[in-house]
Amino acid sequence: MNIYKYDIVFQEVPDHVSLAFYVCGCPLKCPGCHSPELWTEKTGTPLTTELLQQLITRYRGRITCVLFLGGEWHETELCHFLKSAITIIFAPLYIQALTRFQRACWKILIT
Ligand code: SF4
Repeated sequence: MNIYKYDIVFQEVPDHVSLAFYVCGCPLKCPGCHSPELWTEKTGTPLTTELLQQLITRYRGRITCVLFLGGEWHETELCHFLKSAITIIFAPLYIQALTRFQRACWKILIT
């Protein structure tokens, strides 16, 4: 599962400071898409468990949420990274995947 970038964002999840991963490979091509750079895998680099771990450790105490923007088209891998985040997080922390399809949405609060 490739990501275009990661960033610290403040608005996507209300009342949370989120470490957000922008997942590549969106096949939907919505008219007026805000992020057409996410349409292809070619713009991204693979997310690894090590990078996820490193970033969560780096921003520990400053973020309150780990957020995946998109990724439902890589559901198995997305689930893997959600589970990985759960094993390495500090509490309390939200893990959320914002996707277009309800079946692939998770919101988990670890306390
Ligand atoms: S789902 Fe999001 S990223 Fe994908 S095409 Fe639509 S607006 Fe763009």
